[in-house]
Amino acid sequence: MSLLSIIVPCYNEEENIQDFYHEVLKNESFFREKDLAVEFLYIDDGSKDGTVKEVKKLHEKDERVHLISFSRNFGKEAAIYAGLQKAKGDYAVLLDADLQDPPSLLPEMYSYIEEGYDSVATRRVTRKGEPRIRSFFARMFYRLMNNISRTEIVDGARDYRLMTRQVVDAILSMTEYNRFTKGIFGWVGYETKWLEYENVERKKGESKWSFWKLFLYSIEGITAFSTVPLAFASVMGVLFCFAAFLLIIVTIVRKLVFGDPTDGWPSLVCIISLISGVQLFCLGIVGQYLSKTYMEVKKRPIYLVKEDF
Ligand code: UDP
Ligand code: MG
Repeated sequence: MSLLSIIVPCYNEEENIQDFYHEVLKNESFFREKDLAVEFLYIDDGSKDGTVKEVKKLHEKDERVHLISFSRNFGKEAAIYAGLQKAKGDYAVLLDADLQDPPSLLPEMYSYIEEGYDSVATRRVTRKGEPRIRSFFARMFYRLMNNISRTEIVDGARDYRLMTRQVVDAILSMTEYNRFTKGIFGWVGYETKWLEYENVERKKGESKWSFWKLFLYSIEGITAFSTVPLAFASVMGVLFCFAAFLLIIVTIVRKLVFGDPTDGWPSLVCIISLISGVQLFCLGIVGQYLSKTYMEVKKRPIYLVKEDF
């Protein structure tokens, strides 16, 4: 008999815990047919509502239900890492608690694992029910990311993913503090089958992602999986030196030919402000990488546990 670990990061999802459990168990006959045992790993990411209480209720009825509760909100990435660490399964699957990752896809996903794929990932083909500008920026981000990073990051990819023990161990071997999961999946490689489905809207509660949070997350992704912005800073520097050199020659020649040394104050102001802007921008890029390095060097734990059963 094989074991399937079902990992569910939860942040203020009290309304969804039970629904999720029952939705997954609609596949019970499939699990039996494939001789699969399941374990539920709810990872409570410092919820302030009754999430922990709901999981405990389930645990009393069904001993296959387990919980790790964090001491505070550490973010979904940390929750995924904790879940994978706790998973004992031969296979593990990551799902959102809000049922945006339909558990009814599990049999199909498993069939690809049986075919020999190492992991089965999902992407949504529509962004239905999402604000327009959010979709626009998301698309821009993926295009930029794939141009500047050698790690493939798929547009619309969700974290909903079924993987074998080998892939789980590969992900666990990446112990970095800044965890950009979408990049980590791409980085570890292995044979991945992509399934596509229409976007499903959240069952209950609301999304934990504001536009600002997503923006910061995208910067995290870029600094974690590409050093192109750093090269960009150097290239800008070289270009501006070159332009400055030309300008010096032009100025000297002009002085010798026309002799008007005090003319040109407005253009000087423009040049100085442009270049200081570029300088600050490049300094900011370096700062981003420095801050990430600083956090990695501290080697703080990725999460802290309050309760675990
Ligand atoms: N989540 C989490 N920690 C957080 C934010 C979200 O564990 O800090 C969980 C959340 O409970 C849900 C999943 O991550 O199960 C996806 O979150 P959400 O539905 O808010 O994101 P969206 O689907 O809007 O991208
Ligand atoms: Mg969601």
